[in-house]
Amino acid sequence: MLIDRIEQAENASLKEFSSIRIGGRAKRIFFPKNEEEARIILRESLERGVMTFPIGLGSNVIFSDSDLKHFFISTNNLKKYVIRQVNDEYYIDMLAGVSFKTIVSIVKRLNLEGFENLSGIPATIGGAVCMNAGAYGTEIMDLVQKVYWLDEKGDMVEFYHQDIIRSYRYSQFQEGGFVYRVIIKLKKSKKEIKKVIKEHLLERNRKQPLDLPTSGSTYKNPLPHYAGKLLEEVGFKGRRIGDVGFSSKHANFLVNYGDGKFADLIRLLEKAEEAVFKSTEIELEREVKIVE
Ligand SMILES: Cc1cc2nc3c(=O)[nH]c(=O)nc-3n(C[C@H](O)[C@H](O)[C@H](O)COP(=O)(O)OP(=O)(O)OC[C@H]3O[C@@H](n4cnc5c(N)ncnc54)[C@H](O)[C@@H]3O)c2cc1C
Repeated sequence: MLIDRIEQAENASLKEFSSIRIGGRAKRIFFPKNEEEARIILRESLERGVMTFPIGLGSNVIFSDSDLKHFFISTNNLKKYVIRQVNDEYYIDMLAGVSFKTIVSIVKRLNLEGFENLSGIPATIGGAVCMNAGAYGTEIMDLVQKVYWLDEKGDMVEFYHQDIIRSYRYSQFQEGGFVYRVIIKLKKSKKEIKKVIKEHLLERNRKQPLDLPTSGSTYKNPLPHYAGKLLEEVGFKGRRIGDVGFSSKHANFLVNYGDGKFADLIRLLEKAEEAVFKSTEIELEREVKIVE
């Protein structure tokens, strides 16, 4: 079978693929190296009726700690990129597994502007496009020129910026398929970009619990409200069940104090959602992707 020739891990620990370090075993995780391999995985999963789940850095996903039979598709082998310059504009053309760290190093080296607000988000470009990741008024989709997406049948579809359906922490790519390649546009800056990035990183360090395994923002902000503030008001800042808790530094961040269990995490989320609803009639919407 073609699919068996693709690099893969069987019975792999999903803890290693999620930044909150909770998770059971994955029957199969694939590591495609090119478009053809990604296509084979998607086609085969459709034929067998198995769900697929792409994984970038796993910084916004929480896996159940039971065994999962999905076809997980890691982008760890998809890290190639090229940079094209047209006058003052720079196009970074990358495969899905290129990390924001890599982009930040390019941006710093060439002194490019546009990306600085996103520095410090732990992400791959594929995961960020799927989540429409954003910070300080910039969303990744503001910079995206083109997305090459494999649909559920493994067929490539190209989307230009204006054709992409997206909103706050949402893009159409959450509905399925696989983001294979992304082009973003940045431009030469007159500001000292390194300095701006340094300030953003310091700010993140001050506000976020970066010393513990975390899955980032748990809930979307129900604007004009902030999820963290709502959680704090109902007493959930620092609240924990077992080894899982809402951080005492940032109430919307879930953290794992050691041996966090999935069942405790779900109980904590349900209690928090109930408490916020009772007090405000606001239904919190989960931003983290829970896979069970
Ligand atoms: C400390 C910390 C700080 C954070 N700060 C921010 C922040 O400021 N702003 C923000 O928006 N988010 C933030 N996050 C959340 C997270 O970093 C983002 O959502 C990021 O975009 C996730 O990227 P990833 O590569 O880790 O994706 P993953 O977490 O691996 O996956 C997220 C989703 O994208 C899907 N996906 C991944 N790759 C692909 C692909 N190639 N094709 C299709 N779907 C794919 C997955 O299936 C999943 O549904 C933070 C998280 C942490 C832990």
